[in-house]
Amino acid sequence: MVHKTEALFRDDAYLRTADAMVVAVNDRGGIILDRTIFYATSGGQPGDTGTLERPDGSLIAVAATITGETKDEIIHVPPPEQSAPVVGERVKLAVDWQRRHLLMRMHTACHLLTVVCPFPITGAAVSEDDSRIDFDIPDASFTKEGVTARLMELVRADHRVFTRLITDEELAANPGLVKSKNVRPPVGTGKIRLVCIGENASIDSQPCGGTHVKSTGEVGEIHVGKIEKKGRENRRFRIRFGPMPAA
Ligand SMILES: [Zn+2]
Repeated sequence: MVHKTEALFRDDAYLRTADAMVVAVNDRGGIILDRTIFYATSGGQPGDTGTLERPDGSLIAVAATITGETKDEIIHVPPPEQSAPVVGERVKLAVDWQRRHLLMRMHTACHLLTVVCPFPITGAAVSEDDSRIDFDIPDASFTKEGVTARLMELVRADHRVFTRLITDEELAANPGLVKSKNVRPPVGTGKIRLVCIGENASIDSQPCGGTHVKSTGEVGEIHVGKIEKKGRENRRFRIRFGPMPAA
């Protein structure tokens, strides 16, 4: 049976704690709740870690969060040998906020990189200290220094980041919104979540289900650590936190 978990992080990425009820425990020990603040691994962003507190005060660690048979089913994966909660039990959720906030900053930085490098994306992976995006780029004139300077202009401008729902028809009428070459946003549910940057999305908007900070200033100092050649037209950009190291 597939459960539909209410994804609280979609409306408020800043929720660090919440209450929820256990609706199922699968045969591998994965815990499914009626609602959650834990982001499940998807779209290049890793899932959250944290804890579930049982009514007796004991804690169940969440080592990973993944989606189940559908994207709507979110499974909290405890490490082996943990006590399992029972269906109907109420638990208090707490995400590892320090890690999640780093992921939100990095993920938002990746959106900014797609503004500076407006080319088709062939792959991406976000992590707490390093993220990468692969682009098909026909010209080789992009430098670490030049891209870093443009990224930091967008960070310092402190543009608002917000989400907006559009219909499948609106998306079909604006194919340019989709920057990924291989991954198409899910259609057929009627609504697609656009992540917008800048007033009236003047800087960017693209379909994305991940978690982001509320303004670009919160990304903080970032730099391009490396631009690697991965093929004739493919370039892998790595973003890291902090100032660019002196050459
Ligand atoms: Zn995103």
